[in-house]
Amino acid sequence: MPNCPNCGTWNPEDKTLCWRCQTELPRPEPPKKKRPNFLGFPMWMWILLVLFFVVTTFSQCSFIGVPPT
Ligand SMILES: [Zn+2]
Repeated sequence: MPNCPNCGTWNPEDKTLCWRCQTELPRPEPPKKKRPNFLGFPMWMWILLVLFFVVTTFSQCSFIGVPPT
């Protein structure tokens, strides 16, 4: 329930002005929790992508996978 910041009176959810002192009420924050993401992808996807890139790059190097002769 949003209380008036000026007089502390309770106001209905849909009210934007205090019914008592006409003070503008603070808009209640929508209860949505947004995960931190980059370019629309979640963070774990980028970590997986980088990990995949690193593994492929290292597997192509001569010092991994090729036994010494
Ligand atoms: Zn008020």
